[in-house]
Amino acid sequence: MQPSDATPATTAAPTAADHPEWDVVIIGGGSAGLSAALMLGRSRRHVLVVDDARPRNRFAGHMHGVLGRDHTSPLDLLADGRRDLERYEGVAFEASAVEHLERAGAVFEIALASGRRTTARAVLIATGLHDELPDIPGLAEHWGDGVVLCPYCDGWEARDSKVAVLASGPMNVHQAQLMRQLTDDVTYLVNGSELPDAARAGLAARGIAVEERRVAEVVADEHGRLRGIRFDDGTDAPVDAIFAAPVPRPKDGALRALGARFEDRDGVEWVVVDPMGRTSVPGLWAAGNVTDGRSSVPFAMSAGSMAGAAINADLVEAEVRAAVAASAGR
Ligand SMILES: Cc1cc2nc3c(=O)[nH]c(=O)nc-3n(C[C@H](O)[C@H](O)[C@H](O)COP(=O)(O)OP(=O)(O)OC[C@H]3O[C@@H](n4cnc5c(N)ncnc54)[C@H](O)[C@@H]3O)c2cc1C
Repeated sequence: MQPSDATPATTAAPTAADHPEWDVVIIGGGSAGLSAALMLGRSRRHVLVVDDARPRNRFAGHMHGVLGRDHTSPLDLLADGRRDLERYEGVAFEASAVEHLERAGAVFEIALASGRRTTARAVLIATGLHDELPDIPGLAEHWGDGVVLCPYCDGWEARDSKVAVLASGPMNVHQAQLMRQLTDDVTYLVNGSELPDAARAGLAARGIAVEERRVAEVVADEHGRLRGIRFDDGTDAPVDAIFAAPVPRPKDGALRALGARFEDRDGVEWVVVDPMGRTSVPGLWAAGNVTDGRSSVPFAMSAGSMAGAAINADLVEAEVRAAVAASAGR
């Protein structure tokens, strides 16, 4: 009899303690890491996902632009993803942070904050990034709810409302022009950043107001909801949503420690990966926001899924080589 798709694992799922050596350790259990685990679990690989539960979008009540899950909780998506993985007996989870990763001969040695040490034949870094917000009082309190990042993720919800784009450089002009597609009340807050003449002309031509006064504070109403902006001259302007551009800080310490190649893109150093997530270090892979700040949930899922399949293919190739060598020696 063929096993049914719905057949749950019949043996108890392994724990991190069960394996001195895993096929793959995945560091980070967000959209990218869990998608990789799904491909590897379905390939009967022994996989440990280590996650310290701080996905980038945990501040947002709803996520958007994710087909089939539009306007649902991002944390529910991850919880459902973990439930999907329960079917695959080779996949284990450890709620911890990876503190140290190093090469130890043919394998990687991984030290967890829980104190456990383990090894793996391959490692996928899916640790995401930290958003470094502009240092403006009140701004961080509204991050993910009132102060948002991406017009594709949260623009529709701000349609026909009073929107401000808090600039930190000329790249925010694009954000403002995207938002102009959704509302005719957009203000570009220069806040001391550079605004080239051509960009200024484009804003003016599309009826986007340009505000030169510095932002002193983001102000809330009596319920703690975003109310508006206070300028450095003490006057307030009401806004319904602020689009900000935090500096992305990839959580890439392990990739750097192992000597993976990096490149500068738009003033931030990103690890270099091929389309499957392969880094310049053999056996070391990366996927999702740790490789690219623009990677939305569907992109992260796709990158994780590709990396999971490619890691399995790599392991199969190594196993074929070992089997051929063993049979030649017989
Ligand atoms: C406010 C906000 C709203 C957003 N809204 C949307 C939206 O509506 N739609 C959309 O498509 N995208 C949205 N995004 C983008 C979305 O957050 C990312 O696309 C997605 O989180 C990327 O997935 P990831 O798996 O690469 O990283 P993450 O989801 O950040 O997951 C990384 C995981 O790795 C863990 N980790 C990190 N370091 C370690 C370590 N050393 N040891 C163990 N675990 C570790 C973290 O705790 C985390 O759980 C939003 C982002 C923000 C900031």
